[in-house]
Amino acid sequence: MTEKKTVLITGGARGIGLATGREFLRRGWNVTIGDVDREEAEAQARASEGAMLALAMDVRDRTAIDEAFARSLDHWGRLDALVNNAGIQRHGPLETIPFADWNAVLDINLHGAFHCLQVAGRHMLAQGSGAIVNLASIAATRGAPGRAPYAVSKAAIVSLTKTAAVEWTERGVRVNAVAPGYVETDLVTSFVAAGRLDTAPMIARTPARRLARPEEIARAIAFLCSDDASYVSGHVLHVDGGFEADYGVPFFPPKQGA
Ligand code: NAD
Repeated sequence: MTEKKTVLITGGARGIGLATGREFLRRGWNVTIGDVDREEAEAQARASEGAMLALAMDVRDRTAIDEAFARSLDHWGRLDALVNNAGIQRHGPLETIPFADWNAVLDINLHGAFHCLQVAGRHMLAQGSGAIVNLASIAATRGAPGRAPYAVSKAAIVSLTKTAAVEWTERGVRVNAVAPGYVETDLVTSFVAAGRLDTAPMIARTPARRLARPEEIARAIAFLCSDDASYVSGHVLHVDGGFEADYGVPFFPPKQGA
């Protein structure tokens, strides 16, 4: 069995998931990236010269998940962390958004995360150690117009994180969430390109006055999986440039002499 710790990252072929894989490599971990986009995952594994193991994995498919975890364990000999990162977005006003879109988002963002959490959790509970990080969002804690299924899925992720932490921490398995603000990834740039999203108001509303880079989210995820976070469980870490802290109403200083 390898001495190095091992992490499995869902949706690891691009964006936050890929940046997280690279961050774990930098920290000396073995990395498995599972993604429905097998080609891209394999291209990234080749680019890492075998340091990352790529597996075809659709988080909607429990059988495929079981197989992917088994293959990862077979390859590396251990599983120490899971990053539940695979996620999608569908836009539409509540009064017209198709139920199929609602289901598509919940199937991946919530049910997919549940399946992976359960499969990884059983293994980690049996070995008495492990860390799980679920990807939430700033959308989890507020109304997100046009993004109801996404916001609901992320609110549920926060709830799942807390319940899992309360059930499992005494048995050695810590469960936390990272809630990013807007990050420069395909998820965001594709909606900007389609004219569905304007990042300017988001940037103006964010105290950091810029979007996040995927690496900045990756470092927070890796921290929560590391022994440096050995007493952190059930926590939602906002990595959002101060967005959550700001109640959103601008302050205009009084004019001089007024
Ligand atoms: P992305 O679209 O760049 O990448 C998502 C990856 O997930 C892709 O490689 C995709 O192929 C994979 N994927 C999609 N469906 C899958 C499935 N059924 N099974 C397995 N893999 C699947 O997304 P991202 O921006 O990197 O976001 C990653 C996570 O972070 C998501 O959970 C997202 O909700 C969350 N998040 C992103 C932002 C942001 O601004 N980008 C903000 C907050 C939260």
